[in-house]
Amino acid sequence: MTDSLTIALSKGRIFKETLPLLAHAGVEPLDDPETSRKLILDTNRDDVKLVIIRASDVPTYVQYGAADLGVAGKDVLMEHGGEGVYEPLDLEIARCRLMVAGRRGAGEGGGRLRIATKYVNSTRRHYAAQGQQVEIIKLYGSMELAPLVGLSDLIVDVVDTGNTLRANGLEPLEHIADISSRLIVNRAAMKRKHARVKAFLAQMAEAVQERRGRAA
Ligand code: AMP
Repeated sequence: MTDSLTIALSKGRIFKETLPLLAHAGVEPLDDPETSRKLILDTNRDDVKLVIIRASDVPTYVQYGAADLGVAGKDVLMEHGGEGVYEPLDLEIARCRLMVAGRRGAGEGGGRLRIATKYVNSTRRHYAAQGQQVEIIKLYGSMELAPLVGLSDLIVDVVDTGNTLRANGLEPLEHIADISSRLIVNRAAMKRKHARVKAFLAQMAEAVQERRGRAA
């Protein structure tokens, strides 16, 4: 009997950019998550299902084995900590950078800085590595607003083109990490479904290589 696979994905950019890679691995969803309200999507393969969840929940589903595999941004993985999951493949999609941003010159004065972010753990680690004590204010979105209304001196957020920062009079000030989406695997599934997971990983790796070849 073939082992079944459940793959956790989030809607939007990650789903769109993962689709061609999945197609290369012979997996095509039968529904579009942008229009369907279904949270479990069947695919053309009886033995492969997709679960559609919030990006920040993907590592948790995979950690607990509710999904065998998942696609998660490195920003989300850094925040989650990566417990219980392997991260065998960089899919090289949804690239961006995790950055400190603020008004020009912000954070240069003395005093304890206030940083607004949804990336609390990554931010704490970043400033701890510099030996700097900061106050971190947890937000769930629209971080760019915080310095404009005096909630924080700086923000930590993912930046792609920088347009959102610029539109709000902010600048990228410090690079924390390069981000892209990774394929992650539940540790137990990697052992229990080894042949099936290994074959899937090889096909996804081949898809990444091929796309890199086309882009070169
Ligand atoms: P930007 O192109 O820098 O204006 O990015 C627009 C917004 O999209 C930013 O506020 C980010 O929060 C978000 N964003 C950009 N790239 C990514 C990504 N790869 N993954 C998740 N969010 C992103």
